[in-house]
Amino acid sequence: MEKLLKVLGNSGSTCGNCNSIGCGTCGPTPAKSEAPLAFTRRQWGRTVLVGSAGVLLAGCSQKESPEKASEEASATPAASAAPTAPSLSPELAVVQQSKGPIMTTLEEFYKIGPGPSSSHTMGPMRITYDFFQRVSKLPEDQLKRATALQVHLFGSLSATGKGHGTDRASLAGLLGKAPATCPPEFLDGLAANPDQTYKVTIGPTTLDLSLKDIIFDATKGDFPHPNTMTGKLLAGSETLYELEYYSVGGGFIEWKGYKAPEKGQPKYPYEHARELKKYLIDDKIPLPKLLLVNEMAISGKNEKEISEFLEQVAEVMVRGVNTGLQVDSVLPGPIKLHSKAAAMQRSLKTSAKGPAGRAVTQVASYGFAMGEENARGHIIVTAPTAGSAGIIPAVVKSLQDLNIPKEKIRDGFLAAAAIGYLCKHNATLSGAEGGCQAEVGVGSSMGAAMIAQALDSRPKVVSNAAESALEHHLGMTCDPVAGYVQIPCIERCAYGAVKAWTGYCIASEEVPEERRVDLDTTIAAMALTAKEMNSKYKETSEGGLAVSLVLC
Ligand code: SF4
Repeated sequence: MEKLLKVLGNSGSTCGNCNSIGCGTCGPTPAKSEAPLAFTRRQWGRTVLVGSAGVLLAGCSQKESPEKASEEASATPAASAAPTAPSLSPELAVVQQSKGPIMTTLEEFYKIGPGPSSSHTMGPMRITYDFFQRVSKLPEDQLKRATALQVHLFGSLSATGKGHGTDRASLAGLLGKAPATCPPEFLDGLAANPDQTYKVTIGPTTLDLSLKDIIFDATKGDFPHPNTMTGKLLAGSETLYELEYYSVGGGFIEWKGYKAPEKGQPKYPYEHARELKKYLIDDKIPLPKLLLVNEMAISGKNEKEISEFLEQVAEVMVRGVNTGLQVDSVLPGPIKLHSKAAAMQRSLKTSAKGPAGRAVTQVASYGFAMGEENARGHIIVTAPTAGSAGIIPAVVKSLQDLNIPKEKIRDGFLAAAAIGYLCKHNATLSGAEGGCQAEVGVGSSMGAAMIAQALDSRPKVVSNAAESALEHHLGMTCDPVAGYVQIPCIERCAYGAVKAWTGYCIASEEVPEERRVDLDTTIAAMALTAKEMNSKYKETSEGGLAVSLVLC
Protein backbone atom coordinates (compact mmCIF):
# COMPACT_ATOMS: atom_id res chain seq x y z
CA MET A 1 0.00 0.00 0.00
CA GLU A 2 3.00 2.27 0.44
CA LYS A 3 3.26 2.31 -3.35
CA LEU A 4 -0.37 3.29 -3.65
CA LEU A 5 0.06 6.13 -1.20
CA LYS A 6 3.09 7.31 -3.12
CA VAL A 7 1.23 7.56 -6.39
CA LEU A 8 -1.70 9.31 -4.78
CA GLY A 9 0.55 11.81 -3.08
CA ASN A 10 2.16 12.52 -6.44
CA SER A 11 -0.62 11.71 -8.79
CA GLY A 12 1.09 13.12 -11.83
CA SER A 13 -2.28 13.92 -13.39
CA THR A 14 -1.94 15.78 -16.63
CA CYS A 15 -4.51 16.23 -19.34
CA GLY A 16 -2.18 14.92 -21.97
CA ASN A 17 -1.87 18.32 -23.62
CA CYS A 18 0.70 19.70 -21.21
CA ASN A 19 3.28 18.31 -18.88
CA SER A 20 2.11 20.22 -15.83
CA ILE A 21 1.48 17.98 -12.88
CA GLY A 22 -1.52 18.81 -10.79
CA CYS A 23 -2.03 22.21 -12.44
CA GLY A 24 -5.64 21.91 -11.45
CA THR A 25 -6.94 23.37 -14.68
CA CYS A 26 -7.32 20.33 -16.83
CA GLY A 27 -6.63 16.80 -15.65
CA PRO A 28 -8.82 15.23 -13.02
CA THR A 29 -7.54 15.73 -9.51
CA PRO A 30 -7.47 12.48 -7.58
CA ALA A 31 -9.57 12.52 -4.45
CA LYS A 32 -7.81 12.98 -1.16
CA SER A 33 -6.70 9.72 0.29
CA GLU A 34 -9.14 8.37 2.78
CA ALA A 35 -9.30 5.36 4.99
CA PRO A 36 -10.75 2.32 3.22
CA LEU A 37 -14.53 2.31 3.32
CA ALA A 38 -16.02 0.41 6.20
CA PHE A 39 -18.26 -2.50 5.31
CA THR A 40 -21.65 -1.20 6.36
CA ARG A 41 -24.53 -3.26 7.68
CA ARG A 42 -26.47 -2.32 4.60
CA GLN A 43 -23.71 -3.72 2.43
CA TRP A 44 -23.57 -6.77 4.64
CA GLY A 45 -27.31 -7.23 4.31
CA ARG A 46 -27.03 -6.92 0.55
CA THR A 47 -24.30 -9.53 0.47
CA VAL A 48 -26.41 -11.91 2.50
CA LEU A 49 -29.41 -11.25 0.25
CA VAL A 50 -27.38 -11.84 -2.87
CA GLY A 51 -26.07 -15.04 -1.37
CA SER A 52 -29.62 -16.09 -0.49
CA ALA A 53 -30.84 -15.22 -3.97
CA GLY A 54 -28.10 -17.43 -5.36
CA VAL A 55 -29.34 -20.27 -3.18
CA LEU A 56 -32.90 -19.78 -4.37
CA LEU A 57 -31.97 -19.50 -8.02
CA ALA A 58 -29.70 -22.50 -7.85
CA GLY A 59 -32.37 -24.43 -6.05
CA CYS A 60 -30.03 -25.82 -3.48
CA SER A 61 -28.87 -25.03 -0.02
CA GLN A 62 -25.45 -24.41 1.44
CA LYS A 63 -26.14 -26.61 4.46
CA GLU A 64 -23.41 -29.10 5.02
CA SER A 65 -21.76 -31.05 7.77
CA PRO A 66 -19.29 -29.18 9.98
CA GLU A 67 -16.60 -31.69 8.97
CA LYS A 68 -17.15 -30.98 5.29
CA ALA A 69 -17.18 -27.24 5.90
CA SER A 70 -13.90 -27.38 7.75
CA GLU A 71 -12.36 -29.70 5.16
CA GLU A 72 -13.35 -27.36 2.36
CA ALA A 73 -12.18 -24.31 4.24
CA SER A 74 -8.70 -25.78 4.38
CA ALA A 75 -8.80 -26.73 0.71
CA THR A 76 -10.13 -23.35 -0.34
CA PRO A 77 -7.31 -21.03 -1.21
CA ALA A 78 -8.74 -17.64 -0.54
CA ALA A 79 -11.77 -18.27 1.62
CA SER A 80 -9.88 -18.23 4.87
CA ALA A 81 -7.47 -15.43 3.97
CA ALA A 82 -7.47 -12.44 6.29
CA PRO A 83 -9.76 -9.65 5.08
CA THR A 84 -7.36 -6.90 6.04
CA ALA A 85 -4.31 -5.78 4.07
CA PRO A 86 -1.33 -7.94 5.08
CA SER A 87 1.54 -6.24 6.89
CA LEU A 88 4.93 -6.51 5.28
CA SER A 89 8.29 -6.28 6.99
CA PRO A 90 10.10 -3.05 5.97
CA GLU A 91 13.22 -5.20 5.60
CA LEU A 92 11.84 -7.04 2.58
CA ALA A 93 13.51 -5.95 -0.65
CA VAL A 94 10.13 -5.87 -2.35
CA VAL A 95 9.11 -3.05 0.02
CA GLN A 96 12.38 -1.13 -0.31
CA GLN A 97 12.45 -1.27 -4.12
CA SER A 98 9.17 0.60 -4.58
CA LYS A 99 11.03 3.91 -4.70
CA GLY A 100 13.24 5.52 -7.37
CA PRO A 101 13.39 4.75 -11.09
CA ILE A 102 11.92 1.53 -12.47
CA MET A 103 14.52 -1.24 -12.15
CA THR A 104 12.44 -4.32 -12.95
CA THR A 105 13.98 -6.65 -15.52
CA LEU A 106 12.26 -8.83 -18.09
CA GLU A 107 13.23 -12.09 -16.38
CA GLU A 108 11.81 -10.82 -13.12
CA PHE A 109 8.61 -9.78 -14.84
CA TYR A 110 7.88 -12.59 -17.30
CA LYS A 111 8.38 -15.59 -15.03
CA ILE A 112 7.94 -19.10 -16.36
CA GLY A 113 6.54 -21.75 -14.03
CA PRO A 114 3.46 -23.70 -12.97
CA GLY A 115 0.05 -22.10 -12.41
CA PRO A 116 -2.45 -21.42 -11.04
CA SER A 117 -0.94 -18.79 -8.71
CA SER A 118 2.30 -16.85 -9.02
CA SER A 119 2.56 -16.32 -5.25
CA HIS A 120 1.15 -19.64 -4.03
CA THR A 121 2.38 -22.06 -6.70
CA MET A 122 5.20 -20.61 -8.78
CA GLY A 123 6.89 -18.78 -5.85
CA PRO A 124 6.91 -21.87 -3.59
CA MET A 125 8.31 -24.02 -6.41
CA ARG A 126 11.05 -21.49 -7.06
CA ILE A 127 11.74 -21.48 -3.33
CA THR A 128 12.02 -25.24 -2.92
CA TYR A 129 14.08 -25.49 -6.10
CA ASP A 130 16.42 -22.87 -4.62
CA PHE A 131 16.51 -24.80 -1.34
CA PHE A 132 17.31 -28.03 -3.23
CA GLN A 133 20.23 -26.25 -4.95
CA ARG A 134 21.58 -24.91 -1.65
CA VAL A 135 21.28 -28.26 0.11
CA SER A 136 23.06 -29.95 -2.81
CA LYS A 137 26.08 -27.74 -2.11
CA LEU A 138 26.38 -28.66 1.59
CA PRO A 139 29.49 -30.59 2.74
CA GLU A 140 29.38 -34.31 2.06
CA ASP A 141 29.72 -35.34 5.72
CA GLN A 142 26.59 -33.33 6.51
CA LEU A 143 24.64 -34.79 3.60
CA LYS A 144 25.66 -38.34 4.58
CA ARG A 145 23.74 -37.91 7.85
CA ALA A 146 20.59 -36.52 6.22
CA THR A 147 17.40 -38.53 6.61
CA ALA A 148 14.71 -36.15 5.37
CA LEU A 149 13.86 -32.91 3.58
CA GLN A 150 10.86 -30.97 4.86
CA VAL A 151 9.01 -27.83 3.96
CA HIS A 152 6.76 -25.93 6.39
CA LEU A 153 4.12 -23.59 4.98
CA PHE A 154 2.90 -20.67 7.09
CA GLY A 155 0.32 -17.89 6.90
CA SER A 156 -1.62 -17.63 3.67
CA LEU A 157 0.42 -20.42 2.08
CA SER A 158 -0.84 -22.77 4.76
CA ALA A 159 -4.38 -21.39 4.85
CA THR A 160 -4.93 -21.44 1.11
CA GLY A 161 -2.16 -23.63 -0.30
CA LYS A 162 -4.11 -26.84 -0.91
CA GLY A 163 -6.34 -25.40 -3.60
CA HIS A 164 -3.41 -23.61 -5.23
CA GLY A 165 -1.31 -26.78 -5.46
CA THR A 166 1.33 -25.25 -3.17
CA ASP A 167 2.19 -28.68 -1.80
CA ARG A 168 2.82 -30.42 -5.11
CA ALA A 169 4.69 -27.41 -6.55
CA SER A 170 6.86 -27.38 -3.39
CA LEU A 171 7.50 -31.11 -3.69
CA ALA A 172 8.43 -30.78 -7.36
CA GLY A 173 11.04 -28.14 -6.48
CA LEU A 174 12.44 -30.30 -3.67
CA LEU A 175 12.77 -33.11 -6.20
CA GLY A 176 15.00 -30.83 -8.26
CA LYS A 177 12.48 -29.86 -10.93
CA ALA A 178 13.08 -26.33 -12.23
CA PRO A 179 9.86 -24.26 -12.60
CA ALA A 180 10.57 -23.22 -16.18
CA THR A 181 11.24 -26.71 -17.51
CA CYS A 182 9.17 -29.05 -15.33
CA PRO A 183 6.92 -31.10 -17.65
CA PRO A 184 3.19 -30.65 -16.95
CA GLU A 185 2.78 -34.44 -16.81
CA PHE A 186 5.11 -34.55 -13.81
CA LEU A 187 2.96 -32.05 -11.89
CA ASP A 188 -0.20 -33.90 -12.97
CA GLY A 189 1.36 -37.13 -11.66
CA LEU A 190 2.03 -35.57 -8.26
CA ALA A 191 -1.58 -34.47 -8.01
CA ALA A 192 -2.97 -37.80 -9.23
CA ASN A 193 -0.86 -39.93 -6.86
CA PRO A 194 -0.84 -38.07 -3.55
CA ASP A 195 0.50 -41.05 -1.56
CA GLN A 196 3.38 -41.89 -3.85
CA THR A 197 6.97 -41.68 -2.59
CA TYR A 198 9.70 -40.25 -4.83
CA LYS A 199 13.45 -40.69 -4.55
CA VAL A 200 15.83 -37.75 -4.72
CA THR A 201 19.60 -38.07 -4.68
CA ILE A 202 21.60 -35.30 -3.01
CA GLY A 203 25.32 -35.95 -3.05
CA PRO A 204 25.98 -39.28 -1.30
CA THR A 205 22.43 -39.63 0.04
CA THR A 206 19.16 -40.76 -1.50
CA LEU A 207 16.03 -39.62 0.33
CA ASP A 208 12.39 -40.65 0.01
CA LEU A 209 10.06 -37.70 -0.37
CA SER A 210 6.28 -37.43 -0.59
CA LEU A 211 3.57 -34.83 -0.19
CA LYS A 212 3.65 -35.62 3.55
CA ASP A 213 6.98 -33.77 3.70
CA ILE A 214 5.18 -30.55 2.79
CA ILE A 215 3.62 -29.49 6.08
CA PHE A 216 0.71 -27.08 6.34
CA ASP A 217 1.84 -25.26 9.48
CA ALA A 218 0.50 -22.24 11.43
CA THR A 219 -1.86 -20.01 9.48
CA LYS A 220 -1.61 -17.10 11.93
CA GLY A 221 1.49 -15.56 13.47
CA ASP A 222 3.93 -12.70 13.33
CA PHE A 223 5.50 -13.54 9.96
CA PRO A 224 7.72 -11.14 7.97
CA HIS A 225 5.40 -11.79 5.03
CA PRO A 226 2.00 -13.54 4.83
CA ASN A 227 3.54 -16.06 2.43
CA THR A 228 6.32 -17.46 4.61
CA MET A 229 7.80 -20.95 4.38
CA THR A 230 10.87 -22.79 5.66
CA GLY A 231 12.97 -25.54 4.15
CA LYS A 232 14.70 -28.04 6.46
CA LEU A 233 17.29 -30.74 6.00
CA LEU A 234 16.95 -33.19 8.89
CA ALA A 235 18.96 -35.97 10.49
CA GLY A 236 16.30 -37.64 12.57
CA SER A 237 15.03 -34.93 14.90
CA GLU A 238 18.17 -32.80 14.40
CA THR A 239 18.00 -29.92 11.93
CA LEU A 240 21.13 -29.91 9.78
CA TYR A 241 20.22 -26.88 7.70
CA GLU A 242 17.21 -24.55 7.65
CA LEU A 243 16.26 -21.42 5.71
CA GLU A 244 13.18 -19.18 5.93
CA TYR A 245 11.75 -17.94 2.63
CA TYR A 246 9.05 -15.51 1.50
CA SER A 247 6.96 -15.72 -1.67
CA VAL A 248 6.52 -11.98 -2.00
CA GLY A 249 4.09 -11.90 -4.94
CA GLY A 250 4.15 -12.33 -8.70
CA GLY A 251 6.52 -15.32 -8.35
CA PHE A 252 9.22 -13.15 -6.73
CA ILE A 253 11.00 -14.80 -3.83
CA GLU A 254 13.20 -13.67 -0.95
CA TRP A 255 14.77 -15.37 2.05
CA LYS A 256 16.01 -14.41 5.51
CA GLY A 257 19.02 -12.15 4.99
CA TYR A 258 18.16 -11.64 1.30
CA LYS A 259 20.03 -8.85 -0.43
CA ALA A 260 18.61 -7.75 -3.75
CA PRO A 261 21.14 -8.41 -6.53
CA GLU A 262 23.29 -5.48 -7.57
CA LYS A 263 21.85 -3.90 -10.68
CA GLY A 264 23.15 -1.35 -13.14
CA GLN A 265 21.52 2.04 -13.55
CA PRO A 266 19.04 2.48 -16.42
CA LYS A 267 20.27 4.71 -19.23
CA TYR A 268 16.81 6.24 -19.53
CA PRO A 269 15.42 6.44 -15.98
CA TYR A 270 11.67 6.83 -15.66
CA GLU A 271 8.95 6.33 -13.09
CA HIS A 272 5.92 7.52 -15.06
CA ALA A 273 4.61 7.50 -18.62
CA ARG A 274 5.21 11.25 -18.89
CA GLU A 275 8.97 10.72 -18.54
CA LEU A 276 8.85 7.95 -21.11
CA LYS A 277 6.92 10.32 -23.37
CA LYS A 278 9.80 12.79 -23.25
CA TYR A 279 12.29 10.17 -24.45
CA LEU A 280 9.95 8.72 -27.06
CA ILE A 281 8.43 11.85 -28.53
CA ASP A 282 10.89 14.66 -27.80
CA ASP A 283 14.07 12.58 -28.20
CA LYS A 284 12.53 10.22 -30.79
CA ILE A 285 13.88 7.04 -29.16
CA PRO A 286 11.76 4.04 -30.18
CA LEU A 287 10.07 2.37 -27.19
CA PRO A 288 11.50 -1.14 -27.82
CA LYS A 289 14.99 0.31 -28.16
CA LEU A 290 14.64 2.27 -24.92
CA LEU A 291 13.46 -0.84 -23.05
CA LEU A 292 16.26 -2.91 -24.56
CA VAL A 293 18.99 -0.40 -23.68
CA ASN A 294 17.66 -0.08 -20.13
CA GLU A 295 17.39 -3.86 -19.80
CA MET A 296 21.01 -4.30 -20.90
CA ALA A 297 22.16 -1.60 -18.47
CA ILE A 298 20.17 -2.94 -15.51
CA SER A 299 20.60 -6.69 -16.01
CA GLY A 300 24.03 -6.77 -17.65
CA LYS A 301 22.67 -9.07 -20.36
CA ASN A 302 23.35 -8.50 -24.06
CA GLU A 303 20.76 -8.05 -26.79
CA LYS A 304 21.06 -11.65 -28.00
CA GLU A 305 20.42 -13.03 -24.52
CA ILE A 306 17.41 -10.76 -24.07
CA SER A 307 15.96 -11.70 -27.46
CA GLU A 308 16.46 -15.40 -26.74
CA PHE A 309 14.68 -15.04 -23.43
CA LEU A 310 11.71 -13.29 -25.03
CA GLU A 311 11.56 -15.95 -27.74
CA GLN A 312 11.44 -18.60 -25.02
CA VAL A 313 8.61 -16.70 -23.33
CA ALA A 314 6.68 -16.54 -26.62
CA GLU A 315 7.29 -20.24 -27.22
CA VAL A 316 6.01 -21.27 -23.78
CA MET A 317 2.95 -19.06 -24.21
CA VAL A 318 2.02 -20.33 -27.66
CA ARG A 319 2.68 -23.94 -26.64
CA GLY A 320 0.29 -23.42 -23.73
CA VAL A 321 -2.40 -21.98 -26.01
CA ASN A 322 -2.00 -24.82 -28.52
CA THR A 323 -2.24 -27.43 -25.75
CA GLY A 324 -5.25 -25.73 -24.20
CA LEU A 325 -7.04 -25.63 -27.56
CA GLN A 326 -6.85 -29.41 -27.81
CA VAL A 327 -7.78 -30.53 -24.31
CA ASP A 328 -11.34 -31.06 -23.14
CA SER A 329 -11.40 -31.67 -19.40
CA VAL A 330 -13.03 -30.88 -16.10
CA LEU A 331 -10.67 -28.53 -14.29
CA PRO A 332 -9.28 -29.47 -10.87
CA GLY A 333 -11.14 -28.38 -7.75
CA PRO A 334 -14.64 -28.26 -6.32
CA ILE A 335 -16.25 -26.12 -9.05
CA LYS A 336 -16.14 -28.96 -11.62
CA LEU A 337 -15.77 -26.37 -14.33
CA HIS A 338 -15.54 -27.82 -17.81
CA SER A 339 -12.97 -26.31 -20.15
CA LYS A 340 -14.27 -24.39 -23.18
CA ALA A 341 -11.32 -23.53 -25.45
CA ALA A 342 -11.34 -26.73 -27.49
CA ALA A 343 -15.11 -26.58 -28.06
CA MET A 344 -14.86 -22.95 -29.16
CA GLN A 345 -12.19 -23.88 -31.68
CA ARG A 346 -14.26 -26.76 -33.03
CA SER A 347 -17.32 -24.56 -33.43
CA LEU A 348 -15.30 -22.03 -35.41
CA LYS A 349 -15.00 -24.53 -38.26
CA THR A 350 -18.74 -24.41 -38.92
CA SER A 351 -19.57 -21.06 -37.40
CA ALA A 352 -21.95 -18.64 -39.10
CA LYS A 353 -21.00 -15.78 -36.81
CA GLY A 354 -19.56 -13.64 -39.58
CA PRO A 355 -16.14 -11.98 -39.52
CA ALA A 356 -16.69 -10.05 -36.26
CA GLY A 357 -18.07 -13.04 -34.37
CA ARG A 358 -15.38 -15.32 -35.69
CA ALA A 359 -12.55 -12.90 -34.82
CA VAL A 360 -13.83 -12.40 -31.28
CA THR A 361 -14.38 -16.14 -30.80
CA GLN A 362 -10.89 -16.88 -32.08
CA VAL A 363 -9.14 -14.44 -29.72
CA ALA A 364 -11.37 -15.41 -26.78
CA SER A 365 -10.67 -19.11 -27.33
CA TYR A 366 -6.93 -18.41 -27.10
CA GLY A 367 -7.48 -16.60 -23.79
CA PHE A 368 -9.55 -19.52 -22.52
CA ALA A 369 -6.92 -22.02 -23.65
CA MET A 370 -4.10 -20.54 -21.60
CA GLY A 371 -6.35 -19.62 -18.67
CA GLU A 372 -7.45 -23.25 -18.53
CA GLU A 373 -3.87 -24.47 -18.72
CA ASN A 374 -3.13 -22.22 -15.74
CA ALA A 375 -6.05 -23.73 -13.84
CA ARG A 376 -4.65 -27.20 -14.62
CA GLY A 377 -1.44 -26.17 -12.87
CA HIS A 378 0.58 -26.38 -16.09
CA ILE A 379 3.48 -24.17 -17.12
CA ILE A 380 2.55 -20.55 -17.79
CA VAL A 381 4.25 -17.16 -17.94
CA THR A 382 3.27 -14.41 -15.51
CA ALA A 383 2.02 -11.50 -17.62
CA PRO A 384 1.66 -9.80 -15.26
CA THR A 385 0.37 -12.60 -12.96
CA ALA A 386 -0.72 -16.21 -13.20
CA GLY A 387 -4.43 -15.36 -12.92
CA SER A 388 -4.12 -13.06 -15.92
CA ALA A 389 -1.69 -15.34 -17.76
CA GLY A 390 -4.09 -16.06 -20.63
CA ILE A 391 -4.18 -12.56 -22.08
CA ILE A 392 -0.73 -11.97 -23.56
CA PRO A 393 -0.51 -15.52 -25.01
CA ALA A 394 -3.85 -14.89 -26.75
CA VAL A 395 -2.48 -11.65 -28.14
CA VAL A 396 0.77 -13.30 -29.29
CA LYS A 397 -1.11 -16.13 -30.97
CA SER A 398 -3.45 -13.71 -32.72
CA LEU A 399 -0.47 -11.66 -33.91
CA GLN A 400 1.11 -14.84 -35.23
CA ASP A 401 -2.15 -15.53 -37.11
CA LEU A 402 -1.46 -12.25 -38.90
CA ASN A 403 2.07 -13.46 -39.78
CA ILE A 404 3.65 -10.69 -37.74
CA PRO A 405 7.43 -11.40 -37.71
CA LYS A 406 8.94 -12.59 -34.44
CA GLU A 407 11.10 -9.44 -34.22
CA LYS A 408 7.96 -7.32 -34.11
CA ILE A 409 6.44 -9.60 -31.50
CA ARG A 410 9.62 -9.19 -29.47
CA ASP A 411 9.13 -5.42 -29.71
CA GLY A 412 5.56 -5.98 -28.54
CA PHE A 413 6.79 -7.85 -25.48
CA LEU A 414 9.06 -4.90 -24.64
CA ALA A 415 6.20 -2.40 -24.99
CA ALA A 416 3.94 -4.62 -22.88
CA ALA A 417 6.65 -4.82 -20.21
CA ALA A 418 6.87 -1.02 -20.10
CA ILE A 419 3.16 -0.83 -19.28
CA GLY A 420 3.43 -3.59 -16.68
CA TYR A 421 6.42 -1.90 -15.06
CA LEU A 422 4.56 1.42 -14.82
CA CYS A 423 1.55 -0.25 -13.20
CA LYS A 424 3.72 -2.26 -10.82
CA HIS A 425 5.75 0.79 -9.81
CA ASN A 426 2.91 3.28 -9.42
CA ALA A 427 0.00 1.09 -8.38
CA THR A 428 -0.03 -2.69 -7.99
CA LEU A 429 -0.15 -5.94 -9.94
CA SER A 430 -1.71 -7.89 -7.12
CA GLY A 431 -5.36 -8.91 -6.88
CA ALA A 432 -4.88 -9.07 -3.12
CA GLU A 433 -3.86 -5.39 -3.12
CA GLY A 434 -5.95 -3.92 -5.91
CA GLY A 435 -8.58 -6.34 -7.16
CA CYS A 436 -8.71 -7.79 -10.65
CA GLN A 437 -8.14 -4.41 -12.32
CA ALA A 438 -4.53 -4.90 -11.18
CA GLU A 439 -4.22 -8.33 -12.80
CA VAL A 440 -6.53 -8.72 -15.78
CA GLY A 441 -6.78 -4.93 -16.22
CA VAL A 442 -3.01 -4.57 -16.44
CA GLY A 443 -2.70 -7.70 -18.61
CA SER A 444 -5.22 -6.28 -21.07
CA SER A 445 -3.46 -2.92 -21.05
CA MET A 446 -0.14 -4.65 -21.73
CA GLY A 447 -1.81 -6.62 -24.54
CA ALA A 448 -3.14 -3.44 -26.16
CA ALA A 449 0.35 -1.88 -26.07
CA MET A 450 1.83 -5.08 -27.49
CA ILE A 451 -0.56 -5.11 -30.45
CA ALA A 452 0.00 -1.41 -31.14
CA GLN A 453 3.78 -1.77 -30.96
CA ALA A 454 3.92 -4.96 -33.03
CA LEU A 455 1.81 -3.23 -35.69
CA ASP A 456 4.25 -0.30 -35.77
CA SER A 457 2.00 2.32 -34.21
CA ARG A 458 3.49 5.57 -33.02
CA PRO A 459 4.22 6.01 -29.27
CA LYS A 460 1.10 8.06 -28.54
CA VAL A 461 -1.08 5.30 -30.02
CA VAL A 462 0.75 2.64 -27.99
CA SER A 463 0.20 4.65 -24.83
CA ASN A 464 -3.45 5.42 -25.69
CA ALA A 465 -4.21 1.78 -26.48
CA ALA A 466 -2.81 0.77 -23.09
CA GLU A 467 -4.71 3.55 -21.35
CA SER A 468 -7.98 2.62 -23.03
CA ALA A 469 -7.75 -1.07 -22.09
CA LEU A 470 -6.82 -0.24 -18.49
CA GLU A 471 -9.50 2.45 -18.16
CA HIS A 472 -12.24 -0.04 -18.94
CA HIS A 473 -11.14 -2.46 -16.23
CA LEU A 474 -11.04 0.17 -13.46
CA GLY A 475 -12.88 -1.01 -10.38
CA MET A 476 -12.92 -4.67 -11.38
CA THR A 477 -12.91 -6.74 -8.23
CA CYS A 478 -11.16 -9.98 -7.38
CA ASP A 479 -13.73 -12.51 -6.16
CA PRO A 480 -12.60 -15.98 -7.23
CA VAL A 481 -15.28 -18.59 -6.57
CA ALA A 482 -14.21 -21.08 -3.89
CA GLY A 483 -10.83 -19.34 -4.01
CA TYR A 484 -9.86 -21.16 -7.24
CA VAL A 485 -8.32 -19.27 -10.13
CA GLN A 486 -11.13 -20.34 -12.46
CA ILE A 487 -14.35 -18.31 -12.10
CA PRO A 488 -14.17 -15.48 -13.08
CA CYS A 489 -10.45 -15.63 -13.87
CA ILE A 490 -10.38 -17.81 -16.99
CA GLU A 491 -13.18 -16.05 -18.81
CA ARG A 492 -11.67 -12.73 -17.76
CA CYS A 493 -8.50 -13.69 -19.64
CA ALA A 494 -10.65 -14.16 -22.75
CA TYR A 495 -12.29 -10.77 -22.22
CA GLY A 496 -8.93 -9.19 -21.40
CA ALA A 497 -7.52 -10.35 -24.74
CA VAL A 498 -10.55 -9.13 -26.68
CA LYS A 499 -10.43 -5.79 -24.85
CA ALA A 500 -6.73 -5.51 -25.67
CA TRP A 501 -7.68 -5.61 -29.35
CA THR A 502 -10.55 -3.17 -28.67
CA GLY A 503 -8.15 -0.77 -26.95
CA TYR A 504 -5.80 -0.94 -29.91
CA CYS A 505 -8.61 -0.57 -32.48
CA ILE A 506 -9.96 2.55 -30.75
CA ALA A 507 -6.53 4.10 -30.25
CA SER A 508 -5.49 3.48 -33.83
CA GLU A 509 -8.63 5.09 -35.28
CA GLU A 510 -8.98 8.19 -33.06
CA VAL A 511 -6.88 11.35 -33.32
CA PRO A 512 -4.23 10.39 -30.73
CA GLU A 513 -3.68 13.92 -29.44
CA GLU A 514 -7.40 14.36 -28.79
CA ARG A 515 -7.58 11.61 -26.18
CA ARG A 516 -8.52 13.29 -22.91
CA VAL A 517 -7.21 10.70 -20.47
CA ASP A 518 -3.55 9.79 -20.35
CA LEU A 519 -1.91 6.63 -19.07
CA ASP A 520 -0.47 8.13 -15.85
CA THR A 521 -3.92 9.41 -14.90
CA THR A 522 -5.51 6.02 -15.36
CA ILE A 523 -2.75 4.27 -13.42
CA ALA A 524 -3.26 6.80 -10.61
CA ALA A 525 -7.00 6.10 -10.78
CA MET A 526 -6.29 2.39 -10.48
CA ALA A 527 -4.13 3.02 -7.41
CA LEU A 528 -6.85 5.17 -5.85
CA THR A 529 -9.54 2.60 -6.62
CA ALA A 530 -7.34 -0.15 -5.20
CA LYS A 531 -6.81 1.79 -2.02
CA GLU A 532 -10.51 2.42 -1.50
CA MET A 533 -11.70 -1.02 -2.59
CA ASN A 534 -13.28 -3.05 0.18
CA SER A 535 -10.98 -5.87 1.23
CA LYS A 536 -13.76 -8.39 0.52
CA TYR A 537 -13.00 -7.82 -3.16
CA LYS A 538 -9.26 -8.33 -2.90
CA GLU A 539 -8.70 -12.07 -3.38
CA THR A 540 -10.38 -13.03 -0.13
CA SER A 541 -13.35 -14.79 -1.78
CA GLU A 542 -15.56 -13.01 0.74
CA GLY A 543 -17.59 -10.92 -1.69
CA GLY A 544 -19.04 -10.69 -5.19
CA LEU A 545 -19.23 -13.86 -7.24
CA ALA A 546 -17.49 -15.84 -4.53
CA VAL A 547 -20.50 -15.46 -2.23
CA SER A 548 -23.20 -15.20 -4.92
CA LEU A 549 -22.46 -18.42 -6.75
CA VAL A 550 -23.54 -21.45 -4.82
CA LEU A 551 -21.71 -24.68 -5.54
CA CYS A 552 -23.71 -27.81 -5.10
S1 SF4 B 1 -10.43 -12.57 -10.09
FE1 SF4 B 1 -8.74 -11.62 -11.23
S2 SF4 B 1 -7.30 -10.89 -9.67
FE2 SF4 B 1 -8.67 -12.38 -8.70
S3 SF4 B 1 -7.58 -14.34 -8.81
FE3 SF4 B 1 -8.93 -14.17 -10.61
S4 SF4 B 1 -7.64 -13.27 -12.22
FE4 SF4 B 1 -6.59 -12.92 -10.27
